[in-house]
Amino acid sequence: MTVTKRVAIVTGSGRGIGAETARQLALQGARVVVTDISEEQADGVAQEIVRAGGEAIARTADVSKRDQVEALFEGCVNHFGRVDILVNNAGIIRDNLVHKMTDDDFDAVVAVHLKGTFLCSQAAQTYMVPQKYGRIVNFSSTSALGNRGQVNYAAAKAGIQGITKTLAIELGRYGITCNAIAPGFIESDMTRATAARMGVDFEQLKEYSAKETAVQRVGVPADVAHAVLFFAADESSFITGQVLYVRGGV
Ligand code: NAP
Repeated sequence: MTVTKRVAIVTGSGRGIGAETARQLALQGARVVVTDISEEQADGVAQEIVRAGGEAIARTADVSKRDQVEALFEGCVNHFGRVDILVNNAGIIRDNLVHKMTDDDFDAVVAVHLKGTFLCSQAAQTYMVPQKYGRIVNFSSTSALGNRGQVNYAAAKAGIQGITKTLAIELGRYGITCNAIAPGFIESDMTRATAARMGVDFEQLKEYSAKETAVQRVGVPADVAHAVLFFAADESSFITGQVLYVRGGV
């Protein structure tokens, strides 16, 4: 799977799945923009990649803010000359049952996941269309199929599948593919926060989830990063508009 010298922007890559995706892309020879809402975390991951012999820069951007997204892409192209791969990974959760969910909780989740994916993809295609090459990898979730306490997140993650298929149709003629990963339970700060909200011990939640999973374990960020690499590779030019469930089961 070739990503050598390709320029990749990975949103929300200051920690979790995004950080692991940035590391794996860099290991395979991609030049990576580690971008996060937290400057300190983005810097930390970029420095780690550089120390390991890879190429990376850190940039701060809130993916839900048009001006910050446009500045992020301009900065990337000024530095590396192009942008080949966009991974729309940034995310938050604001879980609650529907009767308790506030407007703010609904809007915040939709703004980061759905609007963020739209804004970053729109900015990316500005540069990808003229160069007639691009790989956009979006982050959906098994929650797109419905999940208790996540009416906001489920709506956003289902919407991202719609964005994915639409971008595949619109941008395919320019050599740009757009696919989505839909992870199941992956060990990260996000699932730790879910355990805390449910008032259960994280290790117990992992054990329960593993029992419900065909391969009898929960996922780790590297499981998802490898799937991103597959869609991001030069060789995946005939695969677009797909949603790949990375969930250790059916
Ligand atoms: P995570 O550990 O919470 O990491 C999310 C990252 O996104 C953090 O670095 C966070 O920054 C950043 N972020 C949040 N809001 C942002 C914004 N407005 N602009 C830019 N960056 C922002 O989550 P994760 O588990 O790695 O999840 C990564 C993706 O996978 C998300 O899209 C998530 O919905 C999806 N996913 C995860 C799971 C799972 O089980 N973990 C399952 C299905 C799908 P801060 O650290 O500063 O908050």
